[in-house]
Amino acid sequence: TLVTNHLPTAELQALDAAHHMHPFTTGDELNAKGARVITRAKGVYLTDSEGNEILDAMAGLWCVNLGYGRPEMGQVAARQMNELPYYNTFFQTTHVPAIALSAELAKLTPAHLNHVFYAGSGSEANDTNLRMVRVYWAEKGQPQKSHVISRKNAYHGSSIGSGSLGGMTYMHAQGGMPIPGIHHIGQPDWWAEGGDHTPEEFGLARAQELEEKILELGAENVAAFIGEPVQGAGGVIVPPSTYWPEIQRICKKYDVLLIADEVICGFGRTGNWFGCETMGITPDIITIAKGLSSGYAPIGGSIVSDEIAEVINACEFNHGYTYSGHPVCAAVAMENLRIMQEEDILSHVHNVAAPALHAALETLGEHPLVGTVNKSGMMASLPLTPHKESRAKFAGEGGAVGYMCREHCFANSLVMRHVGDRMIISPPLVITPEEIEVFTKRATQALDATY
Ligand code: PLP
Repeated sequence: TLVTNHLPTAELQALDAAHHMHPFTTGDELNAKGARVITRAKGVYLTDSEGNEILDAMAGLWCVNLGYGRPEMGQVAARQMNELPYYNTFFQTTHVPAIALSAELAKLTPAHLNHVFYAGSGSEANDTNLRMVRVYWAEKGQPQKSHVISRKNAYHGSSIGSGSLGGMTYMHAQGGMPIPGIHHIGQPDWWAEGGDHTPEEFGLARAQELEEKILELGAENVAAFIGEPVQGAGGVIVPPSTYWPEIQRICKKYDVLLIADEVICGFGRTGNWFGCETMGITPDIITIAKGLSSGYAPIGGSIVSDEIAEVINACEFNHGYTYSGHPVCAAVAMENLRIMQEEDILSHVHNVAAPALHAALETLGEHPLVGTVNKSGMMASLPLTPHKESRAKFAGEGGAVGYMCREHCFANSLVMRHVGDRMIISPPLVITPEEIEVFTKRATQALDATY
């Protein structure tokens, strides 16, 4: 049988369950209920095989910043496929899409970040970072300066390297992670862990855990610290204002490189081009992926400082991926950046989308089930709680209430993801106030049904 959109949903689901292994999903879940089959999408709406129009308040996986169905992106991809579908960037070759994108990224990033090493994804880019910071210190005569410090509950990818950098215990429980030489300190999650401290006190204390860890390991052994400006998959944890300046101070004091993982925060998600600008920090490396191409093509990378590039370029860095700087993906990313600038998406976020989303979140925050509103630009989370004032958690298996709420969202034609008992919101940046009204209505219905 030809497998097309025209097959009945049940048949597609059966074939899917029989042959397709899904990330972060059990076969039992697929067999019991079947996966939702998404057939097309336009703007902020997905259409499923039953004809439902679903508002995607997650922009896919935090990536479809421009919204779905922009014809220019497909046209550029088709043109590039016909002109030069593939060539590599190894062994002293290059091509125009990789050159153009690198020069453009150098313009958009903070002044000292001017050099891009490409990957196919955020995971691969963080693997690059892990090796690159170690090679950097080795080339500078300090091969022992190789330990990397990250945070509990961080998400940096799924490969062994990036999953080890990440701090997800349920991932570490499988397949031999974390690898040696990676250490995790606490996260600046005041709402869940701050106790009686003020957010400012707590932010400072959590940042100072970095200093304690550096002193424990010996500064001469610590290569880098990695963190997401706002932790995304950990539950949209917006750090208190005291956190990042203290982290930056400590990194400088001990000559520890600072890696900002901008895979979610980059390209407008927090309201600026990069989350490090929103948090007022100056990293040595930023990781990019997702919003770089608005998810239309798989591409990621590491953008590194002039100083790191000088050291790495002086040796042969024995690292790279067949698809590093893939011409079709690079051309699509370039088109994404062109549209973002031509349509001034950041002004739309600043003047229209973020104010409307924040107002909507304040309304949802009044719901008895919602403990607080965590937000930065166009990413947010609503922790669900049985008791707002005491910031209490639901008893038993964490995440059951969040899961229930996600299911009610689905039933109401809305995608909100749940991380434990937190509902996550990260819509396309182009979302309009009218669409945000639809979001609020559907989200309220889902919260009411969960309550
Ligand atoms: N880093 C962060 C902050 C992420 O959120 C993700 C994915 O969600 C990754 C890295 C991994 O990116 P990818 O899934 O493209 O490998």
